[in-house]
Amino acid sequence: MRHLIALALAAGVLTATAAPAAAQEPCDPFGPAQFAGGVPTPKQVLGFDLGTKDVTTAQSDALLLSVDRGSDRVTSGIAAQSVQDRPLRYAIVGRPDRVNAAGLQAVRAATAELMDPDTTAERTEDIAAAHPAILWIAGNVHGGEESGTDAALRVLWELADRVDCAAQRILDAAVVVILPTQNPDGREADTRRNAYGFDMNRDWFARTQPETDGKLELLRDYPPVLFIDAHEMGNTAGYFFPPNADPIYHEISDRAVDWINELYGPAMQDVFDARRIPYFNYASYDLFYMGYGDTVPATGFGAAGMTFEKTQSDPTHKRVLEQYLTQWTSLSAAAASKEPILTGWHDSWVAARQQGRDGQLERNEVVQPGNTVQREVPDITVRRYFIRADDAAKEAEVQALVRRLQRMDVEVEELEADTEVRDYTPYGRAARAVTLPKGTYVVSMGQRQKHWVQAMLHEDTYTPFPYFYDVTAWSLPLLFDVEGGYSGSAVEPATDPVGQLSDPGVAPLPADPPSVALYSMSPQFSRGIESSGWLRWLLDHWGLGFRDVTAAEIAAGGLEGADVLLVPDGYATRDPSFKGDPYGLKDLGPDGRRAIRDWVQGGGRYVGWLDGAVLAAAVGISSATFEDAERLGISSPGSLVRTAVDGGSPLGAGTGPFAYSFWDSRYVMRANGAAAPLRFPAAGDEDFFVSGYADGIAALGGSAAVVDERVGSGRTVAFGFEPNFRAFTDGTQRVLRNAILGPDPVTAGAASARVRSAARVRARRSALALRSAHSVARLVVAARGERAARRVLRRAGLRHRVVRARGRSTLLIAARGRSGDELPWARGLAVALRRAHVPVVMLRVP
Ligand SMILES: [Zn+2]
Repeated sequence: MRHLIALALAAGVLTATAAPAAAQEPCDPFGPAQFAGGVPTPKQVLGFDLGTKDVTTAQSDALLLSVDRGSDRVTSGIAAQSVQDRPLRYAIVGRPDRVNAAGLQAVRAATAELMDPDTTAERTEDIAAAHPAILWIAGNVHGGEESGTDAALRVLWELADRVDCAAQRILDAAVVVILPTQNPDGREADTRRNAYGFDMNRDWFARTQPETDGKLELLRDYPPVLFIDAHEMGNTAGYFFPPNADPIYHEISDRAVDWINELYGPAMQDVFDARRIPYFNYASYDLFYMGYGDTVPATGFGAAGMTFEKTQSDPTHKRVLEQYLTQWTSLSAAAASKEPILTGWHDSWVAARQQGRDGQLERNEVVQPGNTVQREVPDITVRRYFIRADDAAKEAEVQALVRRLQRMDVEVEELEADTEVRDYTPYGRAARAVTLPKGTYVVSMGQRQKHWVQAMLHEDTYTPFPYFYDVTAWSLPLLFDVEGGYSGSAVEPATDPVGQLSDPGVAPLPADPPSVALYSMSPQFSRGIESSGWLRWLLDHWGLGFRDVTAAEIAAGGLEGADVLLVPDGYATRDPSFKGDPYGLKDLGPDGRRAIRDWVQGGGRYVGWLDGAVLAAAVGISSATFEDAERLGISSPGSLVRTAVDGGSPLGAGTGPFAYSFWDSRYVMRANGAAAPLRFPAAGDEDFFVSGYADGIAALGGSAAVVDERVGSGRTVAFGFEPNFRAFTDGTQRVLRNAILGPDPVTAGAASARVRSAARVRARRSALALRSAHSVARLVVAARGERAARRVLRRAGLRHRVVRARGRSTLLIAARGRSGDELPWARGLAVALRRAHVPVVMLRVP
């Protein structure tokens, strides 16, 4: 990394200024504020001061519009409509000549020039001197985390009306895009997720939700060099701002990491130190998964993308004040270093394209004191990726994939003739010479979006450090299940550019679609909310009608008339750490269980996944058995595992010989004589391949991914993985669609009724005996470190269970259905474990 450059920048905070004439004048960003008084105050608009109570979305909109009307420094618009049709209003604040239509046009044109690697150094300096930097503040992506919104509104109002030097310097150096709430539906409902149950701080690359998609389009219009994503957390005290925890995704540019860790981080430390406000850095919040409001601005836009987290246990005025402090400090620091930031930003695009031309991947690094890189990025040369377009059955997937890249300003080309590639390396296979057909898509790494190209098309994420706040796999070709690979060859193939592709739309439904019922288990916990929410979104997206049935309705005959019952993930059986809480099997009661059995026997089609599949076994309509992954010594925070598909099964229609299952280390499923049309290849087989972090994953080899069997006149399809993970696993969504809409398999040579019945009795017993780790943080350590690890957990007062296998001890720490940033203890755990020299294999916060 080029830390020297960054340190020079940090030192510049105190003295540098955007306007040369004022270079000698010191200006305290928190000196006395002077208001012109031309813009209505928040109190005049709202009837109360910002920070005395949380604003509603309507109040936020009213204030934003009032400031827009009252100030020629502000223009505003709507980035998106939410699922429940609320507007996501944004404001752009800057000097009046820069925020009128012509001014914004000029800002965007100058920014585009800076992003162009071909712009000369001289021209870059001129632009950096004359034009503003684009800085973003966004709040409240988690609806129940309100204070970032109120603080952003205060920043907006102050920039619109203040006339002192601190505000003037920000206005001279920047235009600031303010998106007070990214999740108005969640804010109104006081829920973390949006109305569909999506965590939108995981949706950034896939953009399934309208809120995310509209926001990304606005970011493309106004590409940031700074993006603030303001959150709240369940930690008991203080405030988190970067430097982040490891791991950091390797393709995030050094420049962005340097700005975060050497410019903004220290500036905020100074402000908080001076005010004796408690804060922490490094712990908890990493910079890895490519669906966050910090990693995507950093990787896709070269910005200093930062997550801020204020504890929810403090009163509103304190939360809003501290969010205001970090926002104002960051804007001031950016303004003070505007010119080096803009020239550095341009340099980062030049460097990215050159790296890509040379076929170089960025190396893994760690930033947290005391950590070391545990896994290197392999020494491979990648000059371009290929996406094959010669499978007619995958036309829509390929189109959607290419379109998604293009909508992050990736240049995509296609082969203009059949082309021999001597070192073509398909995903998860050895290199070979092939002739790729004309029309194959080519994505060169030799472009300014090289980091994003690698982040989206990689074979693996190469996790440098085994601490996980989220999943470790998201490669688009694997998610879409399309054929592709890479080449390091310096021989440039002949290509034609590809214009922006349109949305492929959705395949039409059959003329007489089935009547679909949805049983959502445990809708009060994350797992139930999300799996059901992702499914509802998908069914709506397909245009397939459905109705919800509760356990009580099922018991009272509610499956009458339904052709298909969908049971997504949730909690099927009792968990030792969940005493007293409801779960699917109990909620159904004897009548509900009998009703499901009778309905399937009578011809119904049951399709369940994860605990929805366990429920099928537990009520006696599936032969599948489940083992907890940790009992087999497998630990993965979420990875993609190649899965062999039986081409003769209707579930595999259009899929091709393989799909990629999103596997999150829950269960290993076995078919026990029933058909398993999707199966994990045996470990050691050349088809066995995993993208993402997965310790001990060989034990998954040879097990069933989907079990499909006749039950009486009906049928049960049990998935051992989530086929619709975050609604972005398009490849296995197709298998799910086949399960819902496709024909029954032609059963030939099936086991006798008596054998099947015996298998189901065994499966039922095994499901009831499961002691599955429901909603836990998973700490996996080498067996020799178990005692030390347990000491750390005991000292922290954390209830846990231990499962031992394969020389590993997995400590399951009860999290009661909450997410990592809602857990007060998540912050200190990694640090405490390191201090105690615990040999950690993996730590996964839920
Ligand atoms: Zn949050």
